[in-house]
Amino acid sequence: MSTRTPIMAGNWKMNLNHLEAIAHVQKLAFALADKDYEAVEVAVLPPFTDLRSVQTLVDGDKLRIKYGAQDVSAQDSGAYTGEISGPMLAKLKCTYVVVGHSERRQYHHETDEIVNAKAKAAFKHGLTPILCVGEELDVRKAGEHVTHTLAQVVGGLQDLPAEQAETVVIAYEPVWAIGTGEVCGAEDAQEVCAAIRGKVAELYTQELADKVRIQYGGSVKSGNVAEIMAQADIDGALVGGASLDTDEFVKIVRFRD
Ligand code: PEP
Repeated sequence: MSTRTPIMAGNWKMNLNHLEAIAHVQKLAFALADKDYEAVEVAVLPPFTDLRSVQTLVDGDKLRIKYGAQDVSAQDSGAYTGEISGPMLAKLKCTYVVVGHSERRQYHHETDEIVNAKAKAAFKHGLTPILCVGEELDVRKAGEHVTHTLAQVVGGLQDLPAEQAETVVIAYEPVWAIGTGEVCGAEDAQEVCAAIRGKVAELYTQELADKVRIQYGGSVKSGNVAEIMAQADIDGALVGGASLDTDEFVKIVRFRD
C-alpha cells in the first residue's frame, strides 16, 4: 500500500473570471466534506487573474483547498512583458505551479530546458512544480511513448537536488488524450507512470522515487477515475475540462466512494 496522499488538481486553463472563480471554489468547498479533504489533497489551478480572489476565499474561510498557477516565468523580475514571476505567485501564497503543460510546449514552444528553468524558479520561491510530461499521438503510434516521456522527465528534473525532486508532482498527460474525450487505458497509463517512477529512482534513489506523486491527466472524468486511481503508480489526476463542473470534480475527488 502506498503512503502517498492522492492529489486531485483542477487545471481550469483559460476559463472562469474572478467572480466565477469565487462561486466555483465556494461550491466546491461546500460539497467537499472533511473526510474528503483528509483522504485526498485537492488543488485548483485558476488563471492568474483569479488567484487573488481564490486566495482571499481560501484564507478567509480557512478552506483546505490548495491553489496554484498554470505557469511561471523563469525570471524573477524585469522586462518580460506579460510574464508572471515566482515571487508574485509566492506573495499570493500559491502552493503549486504547473510547468511544461503540453499546451505551453505546443503553443509557446517551451523546451525541456525552459521547463527545467521554470521548475527551478518555482522551487527558488517555495512553490511546488507540477511537471507535465507526455507524448503526442504519432509518438505513441511509433511505440516511442515511454522513451519520449522519460526524456522529458530527465530534462524537467535536470540538476534538481534530491530534497526538491522528492516533492515534485509529475503529471503524465498523453497529449492525444487531453481535451479529446480519448482516455489512455488505465493499464497503458500505469505502464508509463511506472516507467517514470523507475527513471526517478535511477536519477535519485528508490526511496525518493517512492515518495514522488505521479498524476495521470487526459480526459479524466467521474466515470473513469476509479480505474485510473486503482493503478499502483498513479497517485492522482490533473483534470482539465471536468474540473470546471463542480459535481464532476467532487465525484473525482471522491473516487473511492
Ligand atoms: C489538462 O489540461 O491538463 C487536461 C488533462 O485536460 P482534460 O482533462 O480536459 O483532458
